[in-house]
Amino acid sequence: MAIPLLDLKAQYATLREELNAALLRVVESQHFILGPEVEAFEQAVATYVQCQYGIGVSSGSDALLAALMAIGIGPGDEVITTPYSFFATAGAIVRLGAKPVFVDIEPQTYNIDPHLIAAAISPRTRAIIPVHLYGQMAVMEPIMALAAQHNLIVIEDAAQAIGAEEQGRRAGSIGHMGCFSFFPSKNLGGFGDGGMVTTNDPELAKKLRLLRSHGAEPKYYHQLIGGNFRLDAIQAAVLRVKLKYLDTWTTARQRNAARYRELLAAAGNPPVAPPLERPNVRHIYNQFVVRTPARDALMAQLKAQGIGCEVYYPLPLHLQACFATLGYQPGSLPESEAAAQETLAIPVYPELAEEQVAVVARYCHIR
Ligand SMILES: *Cc1c(COP(=O)(O)O)cnc(C)c1O
Repeated sequence: MAIPLLDLKAQYATLREELNAALLRVVESQHFILGPEVEAFEQAVATYVQCQYGIGVSSGSDALLAALMAIGIGPGDEVITTPYSFFATAGAIVRLGAKPVFVDIEPQTYNIDPHLIAAAISPRTRAIIPVHLYGQMAVMEPIMALAAQHNLIVIEDAAQAIGAEEQGRRAGSIGHMGCFSFFPSKNLGGFGDGGMVTTNDPELAKKLRLLRSHGAEPKYYHQLIGGNFRLDAIQAAVLRVKLKYLDTWTTARQRNAARYRELLAAAGNPPVAPPLERPNVRHIYNQFVVRTPARDALMAQLKAQGIGCEVYYPLPLHLQACFATLGYQPGSLPESEAAAQETLAIPVYPELAEEQVAVVARYCHIR
């Protein structure tokens, strides 16, 4: 019995009629870019995220790019972020000619270590991008305090964290902007690429709306140099259907995570440790990432049984070839480098059956 890391067909099967009807509605309207479907979805996400504005964009990567453009990031600027994330987090900074300054992670949550941020702030620092990795929020309070003290903008990379909370506050509602991805494998995934920027600042919201359409207002009169970062109506229609089920799916992911915790408690030698869930958070488990010094053996054992698993991320961003000129060396950011060696994501998707969780957990015991 093969168990994939994620089974999108299982989710589609449960909502086939409703999703097909939404798709057909857009096709019949022949209104494909922005428009009422996108506006309705933007409002729905803003409400869900507990934020005033939502600006639909073409992907999570473009959400980050547009957010940085909205605050005028460019050459000479530094942006502090984590080296342990998907590439887009740092890629957006470098595309604008600015310099990413990487701050190491907390070994137990894999999120940026807020205690290390102050030492990375320089007169050139303009912004901080914490990433809420795997569905658990970074510790936001000290980050917001530092930002206020040094007059910095905070952009939350919430691509893996829609609906995640820290002390009752939702991901994407605490910083100046929040960036979301609706890539199909995210907890809320479309039928293609999509993204959103959220903010409570009306000026930023206005600027983001301009930037996503080449800065045009009115059409053909360009106030800013933006890009084509628009969300299309098919994605918005699909995502608006799926958003209604997101909390149910999150509960199922949390249930699977809780089962893994019980089943892994007695796990073998060396042990395979479940991830830490901080107190006072709502962890939405975009991924369930275990840790063991015998990671490669564990991966081989799971794959031999047809169990899907993946290393997120095998090479931290500071050691990527394209960032060699930044001057980081192996050993520069030891916690990120250790996490890259020792962690493995196992299936946690909502449709996973109880027996499947038990099977995966059984093969997580290293023999
Ligand atoms: C997925 C992801 C992105 C990029 O989103 P896309 O929609 O794939 O462009 C950015 N940051 C993080 C942390 C992600 O997981």
